[in-house]
Amino acid sequence: MSVDWKDNEPVPYAALCKTFEKIESTTKRLDIQKHLTSFFGRVIEKNPEDFLNVLYLCLNRVCPEYEGHELGVGESLLIKSIAETTGRKPAKVKEELSKWGDLGKVAKDSKTTQPTLFVPKPLTVQVVFNKMKIIAGISGHESQERKVREIKFLLTACRGKLRIGLAEQTILISLAQSIVMKDPAYQELSQAKRTEELTEASDIYGVKGLEERCKLTPGIPIKPMLAHPTKSITEVLDRVEGHKFTCEFKYDGEREQVHMLEDGTLKIYSRNLEDSSTKFPDIIKLMSQIVKPDTKSFVLDCEVVAWDLEKECLLPFQILSTRKRKDVKEKDIKVTVCLFAFDLLYLNGESFLKKPLEERRQHLFNAFQEVDNKFSFVRHMNATNTEEIQTFLDESFKYNCEGLMIKVLDGQESTYEPSKRSRNWLKLKKDYLSGVGDSLDLVVIGAYLGRGKRTNVYGAFLLACYNPEEEKYQTICRIGTGFSDVSLGNHFKFLKEHEISAPRNYYDYDKGANPDVWFEPVQVWEVKAADLSISPIYKAAVGMVDHNKGVSLRFPRFIQVREDKKAEDATTCEQVKYQIYCFDCYLRLSR
Ligand code: ATP
Repeated sequence: MSVDWKDNEPVPYAALCKTFEKIESTTKRLDIQKHLTSFFGRVIEKNPEDFLNVLYLCLNRVCPEYEGHELGVGESLLIKSIAETTGRKPAKVKEELSKWGDLGKVAKDSKTTQPTLFVPKPLTVQVVFNKMKIIAGISGHESQERKVREIKFLLTACRGKLRIGLAEQTILISLAQSIVMKDPAYQELSQAKRTEELTEASDIYGVKGLEERCKLTPGIPIKPMLAHPTKSITEVLDRVEGHKFTCEFKYDGEREQVHMLEDGTLKIYSRNLEDSSTKFPDIIKLMSQIVKPDTKSFVLDCEVVAWDLEKECLLPFQILSTRKRKDVKEKDIKVTVCLFAFDLLYLNGESFLKKPLEERRQHLFNAFQEVDNKFSFVRHMNATNTEEIQTFLDESFKYNCEGLMIKVLDGQESTYEPSKRSRNWLKLKKDYLSGVGDSLDLVVIGAYLGRGKRTNVYGAFLLACYNPEEEKYQTICRIGTGFSDVSLGNHFKFLKEHEISAPRNYYDYDKGANPDVWFEPVQVWEVKAADLSISPIYKAAVGMVDHNKGVSLRFPRFIQVREDKKAEDATTCEQVKYQIYCFDCYLRLSR
């Protein structure tokens, strides 16, 4: 049964909760989308003004991602609030949480045992969202206490489970479907690749000019297009057969999007859409030198790489990662960088997303000029055969690059596909060629307590890959190698704050690998392994390579934290499957 409400009346929070309950009762992605689409459809129909609030609550955000405000409410704060609201001891709430693994359920059950003197007004979506915004804005003196006070208000007034947060892709698809359901004229929106595109759209839902608002706009970052791994030049040639294509050096730095607004404002956004303008004051300053006079506004896709000014050569990513993430002062800059541009997504009021790469590249060359040691177009070659690609690949290694990016140059397949790991962009990396396999980017979901030298820190960690179909994190290995004493100390300091008392119900794990503590899925680590193997204990890609068993990593080694990736951007089970296939091929070939 759904919770209903009258036209133009505020959407009751209970209606959203009911939808979440239905979603929880299934693991099938299509069913989840169906429930969401139907709920979105009803909100659009009855009270479109509430739509943005609903969306943000579903996304677990209080504003678009690139504005960077976060709710900042961890599990301990929620436990404290539930305890205070229901008159229970925090230890009791924790105990219940370990039993049920779901704080929403614990809060709901605790409430029913608590007598109420007066019945507060039922919550509306708008009230909850406004409270979330208030909570997100609380900082400084006694912030924890003030947050608890606001959460307590919500807990007292709430009937049903308080819960927020769903995977972005699911929301995106359901939202597009509900818009198209109402008006098929917006069919194109079902291709939308970013939530911002649709949140914006929903804001003015039903009003003309929707498509106008959905356009790429400088100042609003889009998720970058990503590449598909390939294991040999032959595979590359098979994949791009029949197309004109180009090879570019694959630089080992940080992906950044540089935006110039019509009024001249400059902004830089990282791969996960964080505003990194204050991390690169040197790049902001550089713009006036590289922008040609007719270039008034743009969105530039590029790689920022650490650069040795004396030797005039590229430095590895590890050097760049030592730069502070915010508020860098130009005079304090120790790591100089060079910007390598490979794509232009927008120029002087026009979006180029649907234009072929060949054309985008020509505009790029026309709109900017190179400056030695500071700004360069990526080295490229429009190759045709194996020998040429091999020579160019060897050259890329000599130049300290990771390998090549091979991109389709013309036709429909060469448009820019935001947020997609596209088969029209292929990466050819040294590690694949030598059979070591690409590194994996995995989420830390648990830890094992340290012994001996590691007594006061975590001694080893449990890692997981992401299954976007089921929206689950699947365990893949235990890792205890590759850490310095300092890095173990740092991991402990950071992850301690994110300990949770029970695994999330979206963690797929086996008791055989139970860690001593569990974490929220907040950090992604780059890891290298000697090999991959089928495992009865780990759950990565379970059912994809073997019926019941998963995949695990052999001899995994920690490389670095991937600050630029969120948990949902971690290596997927599909990619793990691909890796095991690559290893297999390599072993067979080298036997
Ligand atoms: P990796 O760890 O291999 O960089 P990833 O998951 O971060 O993988 P991929 O899409 O697999 O990202 O690899 C593409 C990345 O390579 C881009 O995000 C970008 O940062 C970088 N890159 C370097 N040179 C280029 C180039 N010429 N064209 C596109 N991307 C490039």
